[in-house]
Amino acid sequence: MTLRLYQGIAGVADTTGQLSTVHCPLSTVAGAPGLASETGDPRHKNPEEDPKLREECGVVAIHGHPDAARQAYLALYALQHRGQESAGIATADGQFLANIKGMGLVSEIFTDDVLAKLRGSMAIGHTRYSTTGDSALLNAQPIRVDSTKGLIAIAHNGNLVHLGNLRARLEREGAYFQTTSDSEIIVQLIAHSHAGTLVDAIADSLSQVEGAFSIVMMTRDRIFAARDPRGFRPLSMGRIKNPDGPDTIVFASESCAFDLLRAEFIRDVLPGELVMVTEDGVTSRQFSSGLPQSSCIFEHVYFARPDSRIFGHWVQESRDQMGRQLARESGVPADLVVPVPDSGVTAALGYAEESGIRFRLGLIRNHYVGRTFIEPEQRVRDFGVRLKLNPVHNLLAGKRVILIDDSIIRGTTCRKIVRMVRGAGAKEVHLRISCPPTISPCFYGVDTPSKRDLIAANKSIEEIRQYIEADSLAYLSLDGLLKACNGDGHIGYCTACYTGNYPTQWVDVEDILPATVSL
Ligand code: SF4
Repeated sequence: MTLRLYQGIAGVADTTGQLSTVHCPLSTVAGAPGLASETGDPRHKNPEEDPKLREECGVVAIHGHPDAARQAYLALYALQHRGQESAGIATADGQFLANIKGMGLVSEIFTDDVLAKLRGSMAIGHTRYSTTGDSALLNAQPIRVDSTKGLIAIAHNGNLVHLGNLRARLEREGAYFQTTSDSEIIVQLIAHSHAGTLVDAIADSLSQVEGAFSIVMMTRDRIFAARDPRGFRPLSMGRIKNPDGPDTIVFASESCAFDLLRAEFIRDVLPGELVMVTEDGVTSRQFSSGLPQSSCIFEHVYFARPDSRIFGHWVQESRDQMGRQLARESGVPADLVVPVPDSGVTAALGYAEESGIRFRLGLIRNHYVGRTFIEPEQRVRDFGVRLKLNPVHNLLAGKRVILIDDSIIRGTTCRKIVRMVRGAGAKEVHLRISCPPTISPCFYGVDTPSKRDLIAANKSIEEIRQYIEADSLAYLSLDGLLKACNGDGHIGYCTACYTGNYPTQWVDVEDILPATVSL
């Protein structure tokens, strides 16, 4: 049986017109077609699989639109690639603040009936794949907290590090945590701040936490957006022009969300910046400055959509340059350049153009895996990568093939793909990776296994080549990657998963220990 979980519907007015705190029990809606199963959905984590690395979240915010909930829905729809586990939208109309979240995809949760319950001209939204806290509805966002500063809803992309005894201290001060998510710590810090105004309390709280956060927050009458001082995760600001009144101000993790809203890109929220939007307009302040920027370079390699502009640079352009640079660094005679779909496509196009070798879609991806083929776990595992990818035999037979992919994590999936291409008749299979070897885990919002499970942390490139059974293997150099992503030459990047040099002081030592035995 397919189960769907919803939480909300909050924002119910009591007889005095105040917002009553409504703890809605979880309700289940059974048997709706096309909904994610709690247990049988292959998107759920399986430790024996070798999935692509996953992003934690996408966030959006809308201020000054008569149907803010629908705008937030559209923006989240465009950001669905950043998290498919749960989604939520909170709205406010100056008086009330409503919040609805559910498990599954944005389009499954927010039907017309559900959106109709979310009234107001302001909204924030969130789509999530969890790396901290339980992967349950409890930790879906936005998180709404009723505090001495009033009602606050928050949506967060990234991971905080070095929380130390912050949570215990807040609990001693009377904080009641509703979730196990680290995002709630920010709201509780705001609630317990001694600062005189809300904006001072937010600035004060953000300066106390370390790690990665691109956040949007909402009270009954204001929207806030902020990025951590190092600018790990992206967050952009845009505008929907309104000829009859003030413009609608929008925020989103990636600029591709603006296109669906017909919004124009204004600028990125700066590292360490707190932006406030009210009826009176947009104001901004730096709550922190002076730390070097360390934006996540893996957003350019894999996570962000190619039609987004992040950290001041188009992702499509970065990936094209990665492919070209890879061709210059590690060219090999071949007949075809074949991408591992979908994320290897743009780099493969760049590689093919630079090398003059024909580009062909020699592997076809089934886009409906996980949506229609819901089988018991063991059977899905047995089908493995063949469920997702299928080789085009007549293209590959007898050819020397250069396969382009964006990462090797444990190596098991890569080996299956190389075997698949060879099984389709390829004479030679050369694997090229559009970034350096992934040797260290991420603590800033990307779901990486610990060092002992990362093949490149425990084997040499030649050993990896032998393991994945390729004729040759080469990675893009770190210098090559930085060159490809550094549009105007002024962007500071985090490259810790390729170097082990973390921009923050505190990381989990257990996770950075290498394997004690060979993989
Ligand atoms: S460690 Fe890697 S994935 Fe994590 S923020 Fe840094 S570059 Fe991005």
